[in-house]
Amino acid sequence: MRIAEIVSTIVVALSVCLSSPVVAQPKANKLLGAKRSASNQTPQSHGFYSNGCVAGAQQLAQTGPTWQAMRLSRNRNWGHPDMIAYLKRVSAKVAKLSDWKGLYIGDISQPRGGPMTSGHASHQLGLDADIWMYPPKRLNLSRNERESLSSISVRSKNQRSVSNNWRASHMEVMKIAASDPAVDRIFVTAPAKIWMCNRAKGNKDWLQKIRPFWGHHYHFHVRLKCPKGSSNCKTQTPTVSQLSKGGTGCDETLNWWVTDALKPAKPTGKKPVKRRHPRDFTMADLPQQCSGVLTSR
Ligand SMILES: [Zn+2]
Repeated sequence: MRIAEIVSTIVVALSVCLSSPVVAQPKANKLLGAKRSASNQTPQSHGFYSNGCVAGAQQLAQTGPTWQAMRLSRNRNWGHPDMIAYLKRVSAKVAKLSDWKGLYIGDISQPRGGPMTSGHASHQLGLDADIWMYPPKRLNLSRNERESLSSISVRSKNQRSVSNNWRASHMEVMKIAASDPAVDRIFVTAPAKIWMCNRAKGNKDWLQKIRPFWGHHYHFHVRLKCPKGSSNCKTQTPTVSQLSKGGTGCDETLNWWVTDALKPAKPTGKKPVKRRHPRDFTMADLPQQCSGVLTSR
């Protein structure tokens, strides 16, 4: 081998050593997902709904007078204390004012929040909760029943209208859920919002908080505002300016979801922009406080 070749081989080898880290960083969802209990810290949500964590979370009791937590094996019945208080308050109201016995609560967050080992991009701050569309008739489901029972879809097969499972009581329940001042927004399948826009009577201000979104036909998704005392929590800005001005969102734009949005996308020739999914985040991608949340007792 000539000297020049030897030198260039050494240079290449050195630059490889210096430029690429030898050990891949562990994923945040593996680290945070392995924690079985909350951090022993003052309750605080750090970051954004899809990039953050929660300190000092509380566990929602598996069964309460007006709720049951579902899929207990997932250990996702943890949230910021504001969320736990909200679920107790709202389920009690639902039991009192509707013909539902209470609420079946799906995923909230992991004990310390953060990206999850499966599903959801959000639910990281302990401020998002999925509420089943299945109207509870009893609140004594066994652990096994809570694993095997399925929710019901309130959306038709062609995705343009509500299904036969939809009841007027779904609107009553969502109105109660949205009317609570702690709520920032609620995501639900568009046909449900359209139905409610057409049938709601009286003051419709609460409909401002009901936002059409993909999926969300087996459950609706409640998102709370940043709690007091969580100075690192990033408030979500309204995406539709009309909504921020106190509108209900019950206008022709809503129809897009059940018409053009369902047509196959036209090829643009451009490569779709790939955004990183939170499941690929490392701890370095999360707010710095989350490292403290991870290592806290
Ligand atoms: Zn959700």
